[in-house]
Amino acid sequence: MRPDILNPLFAEVAALKGVGPSQVRQLARLKIARAIDLAFHLPVMMIDRLAVDALDESLVGRPVVVPLTPARHDRGGPRSPLRVAAVDRGGQWVDLVFFGQSATWAQTRLPIGVEKRIIGKLDRYGQKLQIAHPDVQALDGPAPPPEREAVYPLTEGFTNKRMAQLVGEALGRVPAMTEWIEPSVIARAGWAGFADSLAAAHRMDGGRDRLAYDELLANQLALLLVRADTRARRGRALAGDGRLTDRLLAGLPWNLTGAQQRVLGEITGDMAQAQPMLRLLQGDVGSGKTLVGLVAMLTAVEAGTQAALLAPTEILARQHHATLVKQAADLPVRIALLTGRDKGKAREALLADLAEGRIDILIGTHAIFQDTVAYRDLGLVVVDEQHRFGVAQRLLLASKARVPPHVLAMTATPIPRSLALTRFGEMDQSIIDERPPGRQPIDTRVMAAARIDEVTAALARHLEGGGQAYYVCPLVDGTEDEDEAAATTRAAFLKARLGEGRVGLVHGRMKGPDKDAVMADFAAGKLGLLVATTVIEVGVDVPNATLMIIEAAERFGLAQLHQLRGRVGRGAGHSVCLLLRGDELSETARARLKLLRETGDGFRIAEADLKLRGPGEILGTRQSGEEAFRFADPVRVQQFVTMARDDARLLLERDGGLAGPRGQAARVLLYLFERDAGVALLRSG
Ligand code: ADP
Ligand code: MG
Repeated sequence: MRPDILNPLFAEVAALKGVGPSQVRQLARLKIARAIDLAFHLPVMMIDRLAVDALDESLVGRPVVVPLTPARHDRGGPRSPLRVAAVDRGGQWVDLVFFGQSATWAQTRLPIGVEKRIIGKLDRYGQKLQIAHPDVQALDGPAPPPEREAVYPLTEGFTNKRMAQLVGEALGRVPAMTEWIEPSVIARAGWAGFADSLAAAHRMDGGRDRLAYDELLANQLALLLVRADTRARRGRALAGDGRLTDRLLAGLPWNLTGAQQRVLGEITGDMAQAQPMLRLLQGDVGSGKTLVGLVAMLTAVEAGTQAALLAPTEILARQHHATLVKQAADLPVRIALLTGRDKGKAREALLADLAEGRIDILIGTHAIFQDTVAYRDLGLVVVDEQHRFGVAQRLLLASKARVPPHVLAMTATPIPRSLALTRFGEMDQSIIDERPPGRQPIDTRVMAAARIDEVTAALARHLEGGGQAYYVCPLVDGTEDEDEAAATTRAAFLKARLGEGRVGLVHGRMKGPDKDAVMADFAAGKLGLLVATTVIEVGVDVPNATLMIIEAAERFGLAQLHQLRGRVGRGAGHSVCLLLRGDELSETARARLKLLRETGDGFRIAEADLKLRGPGEILGTRQSGEEAFRFADPVRVQQFVTMARDDARLLLERDGGLAGPRGQAARVLLYLFERDAGVALLRSG
């Protein structure tokens, strides 16, 4: 339930003064639906206008407010702008320049001899001072604009003034609230209260640190509540007897790495407890997580329960299914695949098998947790590529079974510890920090995109030799339409040079079955080259593909490039990754690509990526498709997350039910920042 005091702040924007249906729609484009969204809509910069009576050279480049008297209207040729020569009170001349305005317009707005208030940025043009397209106001008209004005992100149909007005109204709806931050923390940091900090942030005058901290505190509270909630429920101790896992391991052509053995010990140790496991398994691409997941699932089956493997996409679900069926071919386990595409009789039969325990391991997309899907006895859930599932989804998942299942999440996106705390803070961590032996490092090279002909020739030779390759197309602006267009154009280009039949294309807007068909052809070796957008980012495993080409590499996140690169180097052979770069690279872009060339260590890359990016850019946002924090940029995350975690822990230790005054305050905080997930937590708590 939403705390009552927040009602005005959570009112829909239609309730604000003068906001009609069309403005509701316009605001929706900025993801602004409620007053609180406006209150959280921070400006991108401040304009400092200087109100002066006299202009001079030293003010060039600054926005000014100045009284000027027009002296001459000068319309040059038909194509040149209208110039109005004007003079200030100190006798300084300045040209007011207007494109596309007529002399008649000038005569009414800037009549000669009548002093006006002129607002605009002072520039120099040759020897002269000028102001292009200034605002013109009558001196006895409206009040002059504020000297300092926040500049807000806008959408069509909105003026900055209007936005500022709405934001102001929203800020007026922020209620008086009890402080939720630990007094000693707030005293040490010297922060103002929430409402004052928010107002300050709108003036770009501090406040951001406190807001970032609040956001992280809410995040940590939510995660710790999930943890407490899950761990408080009685689960079931699952101990395997080895009849499946021993046979599986004996049948493998290689041994587990030391790291795989260690994390398996941690996982089976957890599963042998009645408290439900909450564990995140991190390991670089190709480190052998899938096998670890399989052993854990077989352990659950040995203990007489079922296991489910949740994959983020259908392609990956199918691939996992194929791999596991192959690896477990000699074992008495029944493995099934369920995707959103299964319909009708087959689906019903499968669901009956699941409910009656004739299926041991179910693999699929989120379809495997729909309401209609009932397990006989679900003991373990493995979530692959966990970063795509938010806290709210994890909560739902935990509530699915009668007895809460053990949960093992796996991610191949190595993330620095500070970020791991914010994303997976409710989980214990296991890390695979060793690769299977015999893997050669991927030979990574950076090349200018201008050398595309050489690249195409090398690609042709690679395919002639029986090799397969990926060609990943740039993120245009992150929208699927544009990305698709770029990939389609590139695929046509490559088809023309390499042969129509050897080149396949997949992109995010293709229908599942079409995408799968192309992927399957590629996996079966029917296609030599797969042109793709980033849909191939996670998990796809085709060992014969040993060449990866990434176009406009500088536009990708480092972690994402590392992920993409991990698609090759999966067999024993020598693999190459070519990063094609544009001509004009920033220092940072250069440093990032260099780092990628130098190391194959995903954790090092992730840490360095965090350092190389400035504040304001969130690591991996695009990669993960996860909503970034609003106020907590990576620098502040690093700075504050441990503090926030301790604060949250202390708060819950004292008042686990969030019932006392500060507990109530914390409920407000949770609702402000976590909303739906917050609601779910409060309901269950
Ligand atoms: P991840 O899921 O961590 O990216 P996978 O589990 O897909 O990695 O493993 C990558 C490849 O390495 C697979 O082909 C897998 O069979 C193989 N593999 C896993 N563990 C080992 C090991 N201990 N020794 C050799 N090869 C292994
Ligand atoms: Mg994997």
